[in-house]
Amino acid sequence: MTSQSQKVKNRADERLLAANTPLLIARSEGMCEVGSEMCAGIVFDPESDVAAQIVQECFSRHHRRLKRQGGTSELDNLVLACGSGTSGCHGWIHRNPQRSRTLGWLVSAHGPAPEHMPWLRRGVWTLREQAA
Ligand SMILES: [Zn+2]
Repeated sequence: MTSQSQKVKNRADERLLAANTPLLIARSEGMCEVGSEMCAGIVFDPESDVAAQIVQECFSRHHRRLKRQGGTSELDNLVLACGSGTSGCHGWIHRNPQRSRTLGWLVSAHGPAPEHMPWLRRGVWTLREQAA
């Protein structure tokens, strides 16, 4: 039961996700931004012609505040994570929600917005990391 306004909102967020994906890839410097103990450690050239394809096949765009909890595809809410929702760092995040919250990889729907919540980016605490 999705309302018409929710559908419009979802489409707008899909466009935002598409628009922010190249910025996310550039920000990643060609590596998973999480770096959990399950990291696949894949490295690629973010400026390569096949970067988008590599990202599509080996990475996913994790929403720190989950979409179903009102999270959007603003760059501050996105993390380029290796794997899928069940594998690699992205899978690790969803299997370890409590630790992921302490590391800023998951942001509660009830607390401060993602842009105000630091997160551990490959071992370095980060807040509002801008695209390269
Ligand atoms: Zn990883």
